[in-house]
Amino acid sequence: MKNTSVKFIFITGGVVSSLGKGLASASLGALLQARGYSIKLRKLDPYLNVDPGTMSPYQHGECYVTDDGAETDLDLGHYERFTGVPAKKSDNITTGKIYSNVIAKERRGDYLGATIQVIPHVTDAIKEYILSDINEEDFILCEIGGTVGDIESLPFIEAIRQLGNELGLTQTCFIHVTLLPFIKAAGELKTKPTQHSVKELQGMGIQPDILLCRTENIIPEEQKSKIALFCNLKSESVIEALDSSSIYKVPISYHNQGLDLQVCKHFYLDVLKKPDLSRWNKINHIQNSSEGNVNIGIVGKYTSMIDAYKSLIEAINHGGLANKIKVTIKWIDSEKLEILNSNFNNIFKDINGIIVPGGFGERGSEGKINAINFARINKIPFLGICFGMQMAVIEFARNVLNLKDASSSEFGKTKLPLVGLLTEWQTKTGFEKRSKESNLGGTMRLGAYDCKLAEGSFIKSIYKKEVIAERHRHRYEVNNKYISDFKKKGLIFSGMSPDNSLPEIFEIPLHPWFIGVQFHPELKSKPFDPHPLFSSLINASLKQSRLL
Ligand code: GLN
Repeated sequence: MKNTSVKFIFITGGVVSSLGKGLASASLGALLQARGYSIKLRKLDPYLNVDPGTMSPYQHGECYVTDDGAETDLDLGHYERFTGVPAKKSDNITTGKIYSNVIAKERRGDYLGATIQVIPHVTDAIKEYILSDINEEDFILCEIGGTVGDIESLPFIEAIRQLGNELGLTQTCFIHVTLLPFIKAAGELKTKPTQHSVKELQGMGIQPDILLCRTENIIPEEQKSKIALFCNLKSESVIEALDSSSIYKVPISYHNQGLDLQVCKHFYLDVLKKPDLSRWNKINHIQNSSEGNVNIGIVGKYTSMIDAYKSLIEAINHGGLANKIKVTIKWIDSEKLEILNSNFNNIFKDINGIIVPGGFGERGSEGKINAINFARINKIPFLGICFGMQMAVIEFARNVLNLKDASSSEFGKTKLPLVGLLTEWQTKTGFEKRSKESNLGGTMRLGAYDCKLAEGSFIKSIYKKEVIAERHRHRYEVNNKYISDFKKKGLIFSGMSPDNSLPEIFEIPLHPWFIGVQFHPELKSKPFDPHPLFSSLINASLKQSRLL
């Protein structure tokens, strides 16, 4: 580690899962930035998968893709959205990856015959990871996934305990996020689960420096003192983390409760300097004063697990912020649209814009194609993302070019693979190859790729740039053989890979707003810097709502 003055903040969770540790970490990162510090946020996931790339969105929610092509935990999306610091491959590690590295080293003989054990070998590998790839950052915030007490997280807790001991109080701070349940019958917030969780942590050798207590109700001072007494803390280190109506209110709310102040006190940093919270105040102000509403329909198959669309939901909200209006998302299960005589007019009655997002597999695809057909014919603003773009191209080919067999080879053998597996493509560092037999994990076109925007195109007027870089995560590509046929019928590919081989964006100039993109624009949108595609789509949907 070159930077010897860097400070580490370890964030653990207790009592239950889903406490919003990711948001809490992202918010603290944003508050430290507001105080002028540079930060990096990292997620240490205790599960055995090597990365979340092969995990079902139903179980793990969205897989967040970084510029450098890593498939990571969705919390990295929060980190990037709240801080603007682009997440990297090296910002997410799992037990699976740690163990594969340790075992690979063992096979190479790097341990010189030693017996390989969790302590010290696995914990050393975790520590090495935590201390790696640190440059000039003032703070490294490491969130430990899972809940304290889980068997899986033990090596991670042990590793951060060791680091706390090795680096000392001046370089490490432990924050524990817990829950204070409100018991209606007693009319009280209960502190016992928090006390137990802290005891569990103390039993593993970690004394938390700050407690962030999630609660539905304001925590009375005497309850804070009680927690402090039982958990060996000062009362001011017990921070109230009240439920919030918007995630973008969280940084200010935590600041008002003194979270960043306590962190600065812990590290003996300047506490008198006021943080610059203007960007968060501005967002709050827009949210509080927004008038009007548009309804955006998302047609997908994971609609019962909306975490699968985390970044998309946020990007849509950012589009609302850019237009100072509220956006309501209507979830439409694509499988319900498979039957052609479903009452589409009724289903889409008050929908002002339609998005068909990314997806995998044949199930629900015909329903998506039907929704796209409805949006195209009825001039409803439409954005197709990755799989949604591929389905839109198939819809147009079948219904306008009259290529009835048009399909994707993702669904099995097809007579007309309009969307097909690409076996070789150019990356920044050389050629990438894959075949039908390639592993499923980590073998997609992943990460940021450049795309050239056509002169005079609608897309160029939206991005106001000639070349853009957006993030990809897919195996299949639109076959470029048909580009001129599409053009003749009014669908133009207005964004291409720099070597002109891969169609990346299409648009239909005669439609008010009909765009498909092979990449995932939602991954780069920020509340303080809404993505132009989403700002433009929400604007077009607003116009559409006025026509109704
Ligand atoms: N399943 C499609 C492919 O692999 C699209 C993936 C996606 O939407 N991210 O090409």
